[in-house]
Amino acid sequence: MILAVSTLKNPSSPADGYRGRFAPSPTGPLHAGSLLTALGSWLDARKNGGKWLLRIEDLDSPRCIPGAERHIQAQLLACGLSWDEELSFQSERQGLYQQALERLNELKLLYPCTCSRQDIASTLAKLGVLTPRNQEMVYPGTCRPNQSEIYSPELLKTSKVAWRLALPQDCHIEFKDLALGPQSQDLDKEVGDFILRRNDGVFTYQLAVVVDDAKQGITHIVRGEDLLSNTARQIHLQKILGYRTPQYLHLPLVLDEHGEKLSKQTLATQINTQDDKQSLAELRKAAQHLGLRNLPDGENITIAEWLLAATRAWKGE
Ligand code: GLU
Ligand code: ZN
Repeated sequence: MILAVSTLKNPSSPADGYRGRFAPSPTGPLHAGSLLTALGSWLDARKNGGKWLLRIEDLDSPRCIPGAERHIQAQLLACGLSWDEELSFQSERQGLYQQALERLNELKLLYPCTCSRQDIASTLAKLGVLTPRNQEMVYPGTCRPNQSEIYSPELLKTSKVAWRLALPQDCHIEFKDLALGPQSQDLDKEVGDFILRRNDGVFTYQLAVVVDDAKQGITHIVRGEDLLSNTARQIHLQKILGYRTPQYLHLPLVLDEHGEKLSKQTLATQINTQDDKQSLAELRKAAQHLGLRNLPDGENITIAEWLLAATRAWKGE
């Protein structure tokens, strides 16, 4: 009985066991990099006797490609990576993100911002702050009010401005990555007050992912190393929203011949899952990148058999 009550209160209580997820954005079909993330998170969940959920992160609709989510599902199934529970779509969960935003508003932690990227760049230039290429600009706090306040929920829903989270001074976040060891970030100095809702009304990845991981009771997040620098922001949000912090494990990236991360932007080619033989070849490449050794390499093995061997070989933590 006590167990049932605590489970109800906190969906990610350890009593539920391991819950992992794969959360692709449907901006195109799976490529070698996203298959690696799918495989790594699937193996970690299976090794731990856990559940593996599939969540389609389709909030940024201009970047989403119609039909990509179907394509991704078909590719996963062709590779034997089946998911538990019902597939979820972030576009159908916006009420939850709005609720979280309202909670932060009640805590007087939000403020509206009208700065363009250009405004931020010129403010930083005036301050003599240089942003290295490929790095996000640290928001200099231009629109932050002297006195925090609660805004009307209506304004929060309808205004055409961005909403930022006010960070405390010395917002130092530490966590231990299961693959990479101890990590830390000074959010106020390295990131600045970050956006939770964009001026076009779209909830940002940081807010949506934190709400979903908590509401879906995710205990373990296994994803690509390119997302490592977002983790401290997400942990900070979890803390203020009263959510549990899951375990994190960041996987090595697959780089192209120029040393760039594979992505739709670099026109990474989709994996070939035309038949079982091709799918198995893609899985084998991903496993090699993950550092899995001594897997059966024969021709006459089924995908299910190979995945079983890979699960045995997977160390995770
Ligand atoms: N949707 C994100 C992406 O495709 C991944 C989110 C996550 O795993 O936290 O890059
Ligand atoms: Zn601003």
